Amino acid sequence: MADRPACDQCRRRKIRCSRDWPCTACQVANQFCTTTGQGLELSDSMPRGHASSQFEHKIDTIAGHVDSVAGFIGGLLSAARNFGWGSDLCRG
Ligand SMILES: [Zn+2]
Ligand SMILES: [Zn+2]
Repeated sequence: MADRPACDQCRRRKIRCSRDWPCTACQVANQFCTTTGQGLELSDSMPRGHASSQFEHKIDTIAGHVDSVAGFIGGLLSAARNFGWGSDLCRG
């Protein structure tokens, strides 16, 4: 049988999950035991919807950051060329 991931509450509190439902920690804390982070019983059919759309959103965000960093570096390089740093090196 596939291992059940630690539940959200245990992961958040970084404690060991008994991986029952509800798990021991959730029973003691009287919390609802959820494992939304990873696939539950559907693990063998690989539901692509939720997880990948979250990842795509994150990747979009990261890609935006990379774009702005790349633009910043590009600006620095062209500024450096305008100051003639490259030709200085050639002249020696
Ligand atoms: Zn747990
Ligand atoms: Zn739990």
